[in-house]
Amino acid sequence: MSIRSGAEPPAPDASLADEGGAYSHKGLTYPLGRRAPAAGEVIELAPGLQWARLPVPGSLKHVNIWLFDDGQGVAIVDTGLDIPPCREAWESLISGAIAGRPVTRIIVTHFHPAHLGLAGWLAERFDAPLWMTRGEWLFGRLLASDVRDAPPREAIAYWRSAGWDEARIEEEAAKGWGRFASVVSPIPVSFVRMEDGNRLTIGARTWRVLVGNGHCPEHACLIDDEAGLMIAGDQVLPRITSNVSLSLSEPEADPLGDWLASIEKLKALPDTLLVLPSHGEPFTGLHARLDALAFGHCDRLDALHAKLEEPRRAVDCFATLFARQIDDSMLGLATGEALAHLRRLEVEGRAVRESKDGVHWYRAG
Ligand SMILES: [Zn+2]
Repeated sequence: MSIRSGAEPPAPDASLADEGGAYSHKGLTYPLGRRAPAAGEVIELAPGLQWARLPVPGSLKHVNIWLFDDGQGVAIVDTGLDIPPCREAWESLISGAIAGRPVTRIIVTHFHPAHLGLAGWLAERFDAPLWMTRGEWLFGRLLASDVRDAPPREAIAYWRSAGWDEARIEEEAAKGWGRFASVVSPIPVSFVRMEDGNRLTIGARTWRVLVGNGHCPEHACLIDDEAGLMIAGDQVLPRITSNVSLSLSEPEADPLGDWLASIEKLKALPDTLLVLPSHGEPFTGLHARLDALAFGHCDRLDALHAKLEEPRRAVDCFATLFARQIDDSMLGLATGEALAHLRRLEVEGRAVRESKDGVHWYRAG
């Protein structure tokens, strides 16, 4: 692991660093310290770039969003869930920090509800275009339109294959199908496509689109090379690891392989970038964080491989993969993540999958 030492964090606004009590932890430096905007407030990070936060229920607590000066108005990056507390926070921003200024475009890093949730609502309110990668827009539109009374048979088979017991499957099935649409406002039927390598001129800045994979199909990060800024979305987070799950829609995919390849791709970026993540605080130390993420996954893959002397199902792998106890609220995410690790071992030739009565058993291969 490369740990940065003695490097000065770039401070787009030096006074902020002074007030915020910059500190370093695990190879990362947080130039603004623990400062963060309260709901409805903004912090100016650099000329024409503001940071705001929206509430998220549960352990995440918040999602960061970014407001760009776009000449006559404001360009928004990410939008929050379509839940009343997020709409209220937006009303405060609209009547406060951005009062009187039109929203010129809505940029969304990826389809997850905390990012895409209010894009349609804002697009309609301001008659503004939605900018996304094609993979994310398509996936969001697909999930939003798939609402059913009962889960599809593939979902039941997926849970059973992972080792869920029949009672737990029944409980999950009783919830119906299509929770995505309940926290996402109708997604615009047209969008402006962002592709890897595109350059977007927004106000006085030029942002380069960099696409990452593994957490979602086609995640957009934005890099301002000149100012040394990176809008990282969920592709790089400072403290928590992004969920990397084998999804129901592509059970033969290798999302952890995609994720590790994206980490390598991001290592080509300068280590001096100020990283603006969707959760947590702005930080420097990109390479140290990427190294830690890669090390963490590879270390768990090795640990899991060692456990596969005995055949195991996905649910038998939780204790090896996760430091915390997996309760019912975490079961879906934990299952997806365990399957992503098992699938990675399979692709590497280190595990073999056998199916018995619809249950997948993995053993060292
Ligand atoms: Zn996400």
